[in-house]
Amino acid sequence: MAIDFNANYTMTINGKGVTSPSQIDVVNPATGANFASAPDCTEAQLDEAVASAKAAFRTWKKVPIAERQALVRKAGEVLAAHADDLARLFTREQGRPVDAAKQEILGASQWLQAVSMMTPPTHVVEDSAAQRIETTYVPLGVICAIAPWNFPVTLSMWKVAPALVAGNTMVLKPSPFTPLCTLKVGELFRDIFPPGVLNIISGGDQLGPQMTSHPGFAKISFTGSTATGKAVLASAAKDLKRVTLELGGNDAAIVLPDVDLDDVAQKIFFGAFFNTAQICVATKRLYVHESIYDGLRDRLAAIAKAVKVGDGTEQGTVLGPIQNKRQYERVMDLIDDAKKSGLTLIEGANVPDGGGYFIPVTIVDNPPESSRVVQEEAFGPVLPLLKFTDIDDVIDRANDSDYGLAGAVWSKDTDKAVEIARRLETGTVWINQNLQLRPDTPFAGHKQSGFGIENGMEGLLEYMVPQAIYVAKGA
Ligand code: NAD
Repeated sequence: MAIDFNANYTMTINGKGVTSPSQIDVVNPATGANFASAPDCTEAQLDEAVASAKAAFRTWKKVPIAERQALVRKAGEVLAAHADDLARLFTREQGRPVDAAKQEILGASQWLQAVSMMTPPTHVVEDSAAQRIETTYVPLGVICAIAPWNFPVTLSMWKVAPALVAGNTMVLKPSPFTPLCTLKVGELFRDIFPPGVLNIISGGDQLGPQMTSHPGFAKISFTGSTATGKAVLASAAKDLKRVTLELGGNDAAIVLPDVDLDDVAQKIFFGAFFNTAQICVATKRLYVHESIYDGLRDRLAAIAKAVKVGDGTEQGTVLGPIQNKRQYERVMDLIDDAKKSGLTLIEGANVPDGGGYFIPVTIVDNPPESSRVVQEEAFGPVLPLLKFTDIDDVIDRANDSDYGLAGAVWSKDTDKAVEIARRLETGTVWINQNLQLRPDTPFAGHKQSGFGIENGMEGLLEYMVPQAIYVAKGA
């Protein structure tokens, strides 16, 4: 039966479409108006989802890995086949322009397909006349997966793909701000995975804490803010659930004096502002050598004036609204604080009036290192540009943060850039590029940006535990 992507948003529990006694409103951030509603999962429904995942685990873990991989691969293909429908819905609930929304769906599809090619290793530690010792990896059980609103589909599939390939089952919760695409993905996958293997539930602010304290989960895989990550870790301690936390960042990019400004300005701009700067690994502090500072600032300002910010469904829109009111108010507060502190702000193109959560691209011209706009993760289109003269000093400034997610270095001298990269205290560093992440490469936040790893074989093994089997010979 054809799926209606504009209505009937249901949870997936034990392979069935389920609604709930009450609903949460879903707002289109380009208008500020409610346009749909999603189920508000009850505690009894959460119990049901966990129980079904637990029952499914007994058989799913015994399904040969090649079959599990094949189903995950098929899920990727089904996602790609519905990319246009999902992208249109994505724009309405998340705000990102349709073309970029479609890229997210296709990226999530590629992720499922790439992870489906990964097989955990077996290590033979000893194989002698006396004994054979072999280490394999076994799944954990039921995974609690919690996703944020900035990349709702991709970041959910980062969890679904490795967890299911590894032989776990899952209860996944999207953000209350962006539940719809994920619920429709659940509907698309309902006939692919056996009932209970992948449950998808939605609900208000109460649901996350209910999940993390639920005794039925073996592990929590969480992506969101550092503040919430700490609450998740505390909640997991009660019964020692395993945790993977992918959290916030305040990523520094360092621009050396030898760059070609015309070449790098555009790339640096979108490394900071793509998705209206709501990216954990976006450039959030831009350190520019003093000799090229004015030239880069003026080029970035010109791009900011030319880029259209507006409703993602409109032709020509490059940057959409902030995804939700809470985040809009947080970013506006940061801008107000910068204004009150007498900082120099350079504003980009005008944004639409009305009820949408639009904020113009805002560049802050060489604020003090101690200002809030430098110290805090804006997660919105406010970028501080900071001057530096000395490499050692700028590396210290870049590292002087509780966060350590990613960073970038821009220079024609790639050896020198790599040397600087090695001194940055972050899990990922890009040189002369930005925002590249791959399913086969570990993504790990240092310091308070994370706890554990996603992606790569390391990320897959976070959904498993080693089991060593010692076999005595000649008995
Ligand atoms: P958030 O922490 O407010 O919410 C994330 C998810 O956690 C949502 O589904 C929310 O409903 C749920 N939640 C909220 N309170 C909870 C609690 N007490 N217990 C359990 N779950 C709870 O984050 P957000 O505003 O949705 O996302 C933005 C943040 O996420 C930014 O800080 C960004 O840097 C970070 N992020 C990190 C990565 C990464 O991979 N490191 C990726 C994307 C976003």
